[in-house]
Amino acid sequence: MAAKRKVLVEDEEEKSQILEYLHNVSQLQTSAKGRKYFHAVIQTTKDEKYRLVAFSPEKHNTYTMAANLNSPVQLKNAKFSPSRNGELEVIVDRSTSLEMVKQKLDFKKKKLDPPQQSILKSLSDLTEENMLVTLNVKLLNFTNEETEVYTRYGAKSVRNAIIADKSGTKTISFWGNIIPSVKQGSFYNLTNVVSKKFDENITLSTTTNTKALQIPIFDEVKEEDVPIQHAENIVITSINVITSYRCSNKSCSATFPIQELKGTFMKCSTCKMKQKVENIIKSTSAKAVCKTETDSNKQILISQQALENYLGEENNELMKDEDALEDHILTVENFRITTGNNREICIKLESA
Ligand SMILES: [Zn+2]
Repeated sequence: MAAKRKVLVEDEEEKSQILEYLHNVSQLQTSAKGRKYFHAVIQTTKDEKYRLVAFSPEKHNTYTMAANLNSPVQLKNAKFSPSRNGELEVIVDRSTSLEMVKQKLDFKKKKLDPPQQSILKSLSDLTEENMLVTLNVKLLNFTNEETEVYTRYGAKSVRNAIIADKSGTKTISFWGNIIPSVKQGSFYNLTNVVSKKFDENITLSTTTNTKALQIPIFDEVKEEDVPIQHAENIVITSINVITSYRCSNKSCSATFPIQELKGTFMKCSTCKMKQKVENIIKSTSAKAVCKTETDSNKQILISQQALENYLGEENNELMKDEDALEDHILTVENFRITTGNNREICIKLESA
C-alpha cells in the first residue's frame, strides 16, 4: 500500500481514471473564495480511502445517489492533489465524469463511519489532531492583528487568539468572515472547530462551517500559560509573492482576477454587490519553502504585515512589484521568523 501511495504522489498532477466506491457525500458548502463545493470519501481498495473534494455543485445529486448504491463507480479526469496536511485528496471539477459501472470490483463496499459531527468538548479534552468540536469559551485576548495570507483556498485573513474555559486554555486561529464577529472578553459557543498539532502542542482553527454564537458569561475560567509564539532561524530557498484582490464586502470573501478590475465599478459575482473598484481589498503575501534546523523542506505562508514590516518605509515600494520582492528576499542569507498559533504562518520576518 505504501508503494501505491508513492506512485500517486509522483503522479499528482496527472489526471486519472479511478474505479471505486463512493461514500458519505456532504451537503453543499461554500469555500472562502465563494465557490460551492461538496466532499465525499472514495474507497479504492478493500482498506484504502481518500477524501474527495468536488468543485462541481451541479453534480451534487448524482454523487449523492451514487453513494447510496452498492455498485462501484468510475471517475474519469479526477486529479490527486496533496492537501494541507499532506494527505492525498481527489479533486473533482467540471471536466471530471462519474459513471456507474457494471464491472465487479474484487473488494466489497465497506461500511464507513458516518461523517464526523462537531461534539461539545472541554479544552482539556483536546489531545489529538483533527478533532472536530464545539466549544463554550471565553475569548481572553487576541495575540496579533488581523493579517492576510494566501492559502491554497485563496487569500484569507487570519487572527490568532487565546480562549479559555473551566478546564484550561488554548490558542486558536480565527479565519475569514468570522473574525469581525468575535470580541476580546466575550463568551462564545464555537462550532466545527478543528484541532491541529504543531510539535507537541494542540492549537485550534476555525473551519468554513464554524459559527460563533455569543453566550452568557460563565464564572470560572481557568487561565494558564500557553505557548503563543515560536521563533526560529531559516533559509528561504524559494518564494512566490502573490497579490490578490478581494470583494470589499467584508462578509463575502470572493477574490477577483486582476483582469476584472476595470472601470469605476464592478459587481461581485458571488455576493452580487456592486462596488467601487478602488475599494477592492488588495493584499500581497507570499508562500515560501525554507530550510530550518529540523526540516529541510518547510512550507510557510508569509503574511502581508510581516512583509510590510520587514521592508519598512525605505523598501515599501517593493510591495507593488512581486518579481522584485522575490529577488530581494532570495538575496538575504538568513532569516528569523516568528510564527503564531499556526506554525505555518509567519507573522514576523527579520534578517538574522
Ligand atoms: Zn462579494
